[in-house]
Amino acid sequence: MQDTIVALATPPGEGGLAVIRISGPRSLEIARAFFHRADRRSLDAVKSHRACFGEIRDADGTCIDEAVFTFFQGPKSYTAEDVVELAVHGGVFVSAKVLELAQAKGARLAGPGEFTRRAFVNGRLDLSQAEAVSDIISAASDQALKTAVSQLKGALSEKLNELFQDALQLLSQLEAAIDFPEDDLKLAHSDEILKSAEALIERLHRLAATYDQGKIIHEGARVILAGKPNAGKSSLLNALLQEDRAIVTPYSGTTRDLLEERARINNIHVNLIDSAGLRENPEEIEKIGIERARAALADADLILLVFDGSQALDDNDRLLMQTVAGKQSLLLINKNDLTQELDAEALQTELKKAPLFLSAATGEGLDALRQAIYDHCAPQLKESIIITRKRHQEGLELAAQALERAAESVRNQLSEEFTAVDVHIALDHLGAIVGKNFSDDLLDLIFGQFCIGK
Ligand code: GDP
Repeated sequence: MQDTIVALATPPGEGGLAVIRISGPRSLEIARAFFHRADRRSLDAVKSHRACFGEIRDADGTCIDEAVFTFFQGPKSYTAEDVVELAVHGGVFVSAKVLELAQAKGARLAGPGEFTRRAFVNGRLDLSQAEAVSDIISAASDQALKTAVSQLKGALSEKLNELFQDALQLLSQLEAAIDFPEDDLKLAHSDEILKSAEALIERLHRLAATYDQGKIIHEGARVILAGKPNAGKSSLLNALLQEDRAIVTPYSGTTRDLLEERARINNIHVNLIDSAGLRENPEEIEKIGIERARAALADADLILLVFDGSQALDDNDRLLMQTVAGKQSLLLINKNDLTQELDAEALQTELKKAPLFLSAATGEGLDALRQAIYDHCAPQLKESIIITRKRHQEGLELAAQALERAAESVRNQLSEEFTAVDVHIALDHLGAIVGKNFSDDLLDLIFGQFCIGK
């Protein structure tokens, strides 16, 4: 039998309310020990999904707080077990006391995500829906929230289940083929199997490919500021954030490490990264920063190439241009408030893109820059159902690869039994995404990223 767990469901600290959640077969019995209804009626008579008012008393009968008590009888609860929620006044001490009282009666403090893990284990949510719960909590834009809610409601699960069923269908086609004794019938049947496999592979790839956009929705686009030292990267970052977070100094090479800030630009979530200035013959200590900058440039969704308009192009600028050749970038000419020495036309011809002239100092051109970042980074959703997690993308790709091997076996007229092995592997990968098959390690990994009390 499952034990009964307890945790603070609201963030720790002072607030208007604190909610303590208890889940498990003994939740009502445990709460009964310290919650007393104001109308003096017994908690045994409490109806599911109804709130009642009362007080919390400690072991010697002293009232520690007033509280609203709600009972959710399983399976109609978040975890599908009996759940009690106690809303108390939001003090740190009061909630700690209630946790202690519940523990004294045998409840165990819940680990991160343990309530949601139970919801999964008890079959109320599949694994992709459980992950969506954590995505709703961490959503930083409208689109992120919308996608997570649709996943929680089961849109993605439905699509994954369809794919799973179609892979099962493929397996039964293979099994039927084993019974065809005549070669020509067998051949016609192989053609059909191959068609089904190819169609399924195509759909798996298509769903896996939505991760490119899904990742941006879930994690935010990665936009990196790159340029030689003193071009004005930190100043631009600050101007975009409208806050003084990076340290700005008039000396070269001070942003040695990477600084990442989360920004919202026209309602999308963007991670702005300030890189170490790239320059030739850097001092030893700068080298690490420059190496990190190069690595960050490699996986950026967009690079903001910052040039200093008040200086002629030099070797450091050229180094930057070589480093980012062929990558998605915007050409920014900063320090537009100073006398211009940079040959912008030559730069435009060389980089084949129109420059944005701006000044981090006066704010000129920043709105145009925000719009340009938005135009590049706003997810272009072509599919209505998208995936937002690497785990799902990998599962889909591995399933597709297994089916490609199966298709190859059919083309080579290998035995159906042999082909079926790969279809089974594809089924395993698809099943793992929604949690049809799972290991405790996988659950630890997924739910370990949740907050305690969720
Ligand atoms: P980084 O090394 O590329 O991060 O450059 P910083 O942001 O630290 O800027 C270097 C120097 O240029 C600082 O003294 C800034 O105040 C100055 N600066 C940055 N942007 C502008 C600008 O648009 N106009 C002027 N006049 N000075 C700027």
